[in-house]
Amino acid sequence: MTQLNENVDVVVIGGGVVGCAVFRRFTLMGARTMLLEKGGDILSGASKANSAILHTGFDAPTGSLELQCMQAGYEEYMAIHQQMNLPLLKTTAIVVAWNQEQLDALPGIVQQAHNNGVFDVEQISSEEVYRREPHLAKGALGGVYVPGEYVIDPWSSPLAYMTQAVMHGGQYAFNCEVQRVKSTDDGWELTTSRGRVQTRLVINCAGNHGDLIDGMWRTPEFEIRPRKGQFLVYDKASASQINAIILPVPTPTTKGVLLCKTIFGNMILGPTAEEQQDRNRADVDETVMQGLIEKGSLMLPTLTDYPVTATYAGLRPATEKKEYRIFHYPQDSWITVGGIRSTGLTAALGIASHVESLYQQHFPALFTLNPPPELQWPRMPMLSEYEKRDYACPGNGGIVCHCELVTRRELEATFDSAIPPECIGALRRRTRVMMGRCNGFFCSNNVAEIIGHRFENTLVVGKVE
Ligand SMILES: Cc1cc2nc3c(=O)[nH]c(=O)nc-3n(C[C@H](O)[C@H](O)[C@H](O)COP(=O)(O)OP(=O)(O)OC[C@H]3O[C@@H](n4cnc5c(N)ncnc54)[C@H](O)[C@@H]3O)c2cc1C
Repeated sequence: MTQLNENVDVVVIGGGVVGCAVFRRFTLMGARTMLLEKGGDILSGASKANSAILHTGFDAPTGSLELQCMQAGYEEYMAIHQQMNLPLLKTTAIVVAWNQEQLDALPGIVQQAHNNGVFDVEQISSEEVYRREPHLAKGALGGVYVPGEYVIDPWSSPLAYMTQAVMHGGQYAFNCEVQRVKSTDDGWELTTSRGRVQTRLVINCAGNHGDLIDGMWRTPEFEIRPRKGQFLVYDKASASQINAIILPVPTPTTKGVLLCKTIFGNMILGPTAEEQQDRNRADVDETVMQGLIEKGSLMLPTLTDYPVTATYAGLRPATEKKEYRIFHYPQDSWITVGGIRSTGLTAALGIASHVESLYQQHFPALFTLNPPPELQWPRMPMLSEYEKRDYACPGNGGIVCHCELVTRRELEATFDSAIPPECIGALRRRTRVMMGRCNGFFCSNNVAEIIGHRFENTLVVGKVE
């Protein structure tokens, strides 16, 4: 790996979904940008493992920046997803009340949704709950129906944002940890594990490490307190057992455990909400899994008929406060996007817009913008179980991964893409290979043959070698 010695307008620290969206936004504005990610791929932190719900914001705090960013992010995703070939699964959601206290809370949930401008949310009777969800356990007393909630692809979306940035000249470096920052006459000099980068503006999107990055030059205004969420993934046949996302009535501390289809055809059960010190490790725990299974079967008794094919956990970048922690320091040419706890997949494009408006308002003429005369749009590989996939198209070279129906053509194409995978995790997230019920037991030999020596020799436009 060669050493970096770059000079750009904007450095984005962190390639989570937020960093990818901010990187895209500033590149499309016409800035000379660079994204630095310490992992071997984007989505090495919180954005790797979430529920993948595109939220309406019906239950977000009214008037909050979080709600504003979620609704702007939702709208922009709706506007651009087709151009990028990104999928959308219209699931809807139902908040189900299982006891009198929860039933009494439903009008308040509807009222809050309406206060948030989500006017199609309505309370429904228990009969209506069962008409929509015939497999639910007995005892549901009523629900709140949220027609606008969707499920998306949590990995292709940020990859698409980043790809569009790279198509317009954005640069990036993986395995590149920012280790020190030093203020200079022209902005900042960043010392990374791969060399130095000079920049006019830094945008800190480092998720669970956001306070540590700020702590490199000032007393941070927030403290990260990672909150783990564990999930079970059920075999694809289980997805027939629900239609909507099944949500519990939230408590003041957690949104609770949900049942949800994934865009890849499975059903997930989770997440938990567990405070922990460690910012990096997201382990799953057998006792917690058992507890989740019990909770899930109380809501959906048929769940026990289906095998669990995987488990995973993600770490929310929570802080001592509930709200987003977005700060701008015009004197210091620095913006921090911290504490994007549990709605960042939805809000990312809206956060990027908000950061752009902070820049336009508070950082006048920090650098010259040369916006592209015409926007180019990446077409992402379609991985949704609910759309036409490559295995159904001629000339695909045959199916390599039979659990997830991944073709040789899809695997080979990913190495020719703007941001080729550089590690197995990246290849899995870009294609679904080895992500199915056998976890790669049957296809890994063939996959290894296709990978060949490619991980050592990746050379692409935009990538800083
Ligand atoms: C259990 C769970 C369920 C969720 N469900 C949903 C959902 O259904 N819908 C929704 O909208 N949101 C959901 N979220 C929230 C969403 O996943 C997060 O808000 C989002 O991933 C935060 O993204 P981020 O970019 O801020 O952080 P991250 O994804 O953590 O990105 C930060 C990046 O910075 C990098 N980094 C850190 N330090 C350095 C350094 N020194 N140098 C270079 N790089 C560095 C990290 O490696 C990481 O890749 C959920 C989250 C969890 C955990």
